[in-house]
Amino acid sequence: MRTAQIRRRYLDFFEEQDHTIVPSTSLISPDPSILFTIAGMVPFIPYIVGTEPAPWPRVASAQKCIRTNDIENVGRTTRHGTFFQMLGNFSFGDYFKDGAIAYAWELLTGDPERGRFGFDGSRLWVTIWDQDDVALSALTNVGVNPDQIVRLPREENFWDTGQPGPAGPCAEFHYDRGPEFGPEAVGGTVDPGGDRYLEIWNLVFDQFLRGEGTGKSYPLLKELDSKAIDTGAGLERIAFLKQGKANMYEIDEVFPVIQRVQELSGRTYGGGDGVSEPEDDVRMRVVADHVRSALMLVGDGVRPANEGRGYVLRRLLRRSVRAMRLLGVTDPALPELLPVSKDAMKASYPELEADFARISGIVYDEEDAFRRTLESGTTILDTAVRRVRQSGGTAITGEDAFKLHDTYGFPIDLTVEMASEQGLSIDTETFRRLMTEQRQRARADALAKKTGHVDTSIYTAMAGDLAQPVQFLGYTDATARV
Ligand code: ATP
Ligand code: MG
Ligand code: MG
Ligand code: MG
Repeated sequence: MRTAQIRRRYLDFFEEQDHTIVPSTSLISPDPSILFTIAGMVPFIPYIVGTEPAPWPRVASAQKCIRTNDIENVGRTTRHGTFFQMLGNFSFGDYFKDGAIAYAWELLTGDPERGRFGFDGSRLWVTIWDQDDVALSALTNVGVNPDQIVRLPREENFWDTGQPGPAGPCAEFHYDRGPEFGPEAVGGTVDPGGDRYLEIWNLVFDQFLRGEGTGKSYPLLKELDSKAIDTGAGLERIAFLKQGKANMYEIDEVFPVIQRVQELSGRTYGGGDGVSEPEDDVRMRVVADHVRSALMLVGDGVRPANEGRGYVLRRLLRRSVRAMRLLGVTDPALPELLPVSKDAMKASYPELEADFARISGIVYDEEDAFRRTLESGTTILDTAVRRVRQSGGTAITGEDAFKLHDTYGFPIDLTVEMASEQGLSIDTETFRRLMTEQRQRARADALAKKTGHVDTSIYTAMAGDLAQPVQFLGYTDATARV
């Protein structure tokens, strides 16, 4: 089943259950407090927190999402993309816990001949809040094995907005991929970090009015008069299970880019040809993920820039180009990859085709600019290497590494790797100190400007080091990774 069909099936099912189907909103978050749409519920926040009346009692969508906080996981776990699609059904004061659980179970385990997904119910595990007896009985009533219902404390399975207002427990459906992927869950946990139990669908029961308090320690003041249901299922996760693939980068919407990368690099995904490095698979998955995210971001009107959303886009594109170079491809790569990603995505997003001349122009220009950066940085690096050699040293100075980073936009992992090709290391201690100083300056600036709610996690999150074989041990503080 193609990913686009699974998406259709989800929406058709909820249409059948009297939901209004609404199109995805833009990746540019309609909520000004966040940069990107990070979940299916984002466009519905006013109806969930109750600041506006909902135009419909029940609604469903397949929402485009970007999560930069998952970037370090991309290509390394089976299940995290920077771009992904969240399937969601929502009720605003209409059906509640029993209804949401019954719908999820029916769609997950129902007959594929009747448009359901046909998962084996005996492989589904569900985590709930340990006080939620209503969820417990609703789950056992529909047929979930009680031994596979895991009760977790509030810290682990409770939703809130971080301030007084609506809050409530979750029930998360996980699929057991089987003993080949790890040991069976014991001691009443489903290890969310492992590969065996894959979280596929989160049901949030927006049930209580919460009071003041930090973290999850706040009083639950009362049951809300108008309760809401907010659910999110990962389309790519369902797709990779249904398509019998090992991870979300191998589904029909993503894998064609990996195939093209193989052709361009002459290296084999899945390794084993004696030429590929162990990290090559990760790099190929990263490229396929990032190219797709960039395509979708530019499609939604984001342009490369040095701050905000544009900075995220710039980093995604640079990381793609960097990963391609580490795969041995030094010619312009994006003109080879972006059209492949567009073709893989256009079944669900036909607008990409019509807009492709504009999108590709922006993306290709950015690669050209980055290639020029790399060229000028390389000259500076060569000079630095010569200086070290002349003085009989073995390490590039921290000042030079910092200048490369700061002035020429030269990523530190690239400096480390290129220096090591010359048999040199980097004075990482000084580099780190200079980065910290710069960060403090930036923070002071930001405070002074009162920029408000900027998602600074992007600056740390986007730093992901693609050149894993080069262990840059200089960082102790993750926030230094810019
Ligand atoms: P995980 O624990 O695997 O990181 P999560 O708990 O952060 O997932 P939720 O915020 O509950 O995810 O989002 C709802 C659903 O969206 C998840 O159950 C999953 O199916 C999907 N999802 C979340 N993050 C990603 C991602 N980065 N890539 C692909 N799918 C995702
Ligand atoms: Mg997560
Ligand atoms: Mg989770
Ligand atoms: Mg979750």
